[in-house]
Amino acid sequence: MRIDVLTLFAEMFPGVLGSSILKRAEEMGQVRYQLTDIRRYTTNKHGKVDDRPFGGGPGMVMACQPLWDAVAAVEKQDKTPAHRVLMTPTGAPLTQPTCERLAECERLLIIAGRYEGIDQRVIDRLDPEPISIGDYVLSGGELPAMVLIDAVVRLIPGVLGHDESAHRDSFSAGADRIFDHPHYTRPRVWEGLEVPDVLMSGDHTAIEQWRKQQAEQATRRRRPDLLNESDSV
Ligand code: SAM
Repeated sequence: MRIDVLTLFAEMFPGVLGSSILKRAEEMGQVRYQLTDIRRYTTNKHGKVDDRPFGGGPGMVMACQPLWDAVAAVEKQDKTPAHRVLMTPTGAPLTQPTCERLAECERLLIIAGRYEGIDQRVIDRLDPEPISIGDYVLSGGELPAMVLIDAVVRLIPGVLGHDESAHRDSFSAGADRIFDHPHYTRPRVWEGLEVPDVLMSGDHTAIEQWRKQQAEQATRRRRPDLLNESDSV
């Protein structure tokens, strides 16, 4: 998969893309990241990429021209058509099924906004899939883009080793789209707290049942909406 990110703050990415699983995925040739500074494409002689909002109000708005030209230039670099994504608090919530769908794309082009947002006309023309990482507002789309990249890249087949498979993670089909179960490791007793007996029993059926029950209880307590959704499927 090729992932293009169009941003005004490319310097925020190397630490995240150059660490751990995202780095390994690139080293294995499963993914290629390309960061593009939208400012490079502005025709404004002072390097401006934003302007004051028509209709008044606070803040600045990202102008159409630099982003439009940046997208055109980046898309031309590769014949593979890109699935365009816009990070925005007004997008559809990022969910595991969305990540699973995006992990099947050959190429993603992610647009990170800044300031009050982006001129609606260039959004309408580019027609990206609008995605939000939650009902709160960040200063820019860079952290949301990194969240999306991490959640998607780990789902590309071969990126995670067998031992760290995402198949049974929370919200995945293998976990019935509810929470994962609690996890324990050595020592068996820590600060007087024991690992649940069933996990030491060697009885795999009982362990599976216990884990399922724990996952359901935690989901019912904190996210009952997930159980209702999986009941109705
Ligand atoms: N005025 C906008 C609003 O109230 O919806 C907020 C703009 S925000 C300060 C600047 C940029 O951060 C947005 O264009 C978007 O790219 C990004 N952003 C902020 N919160 C986000 C979220 N929850 N999910 C995805 N992107 C977000």
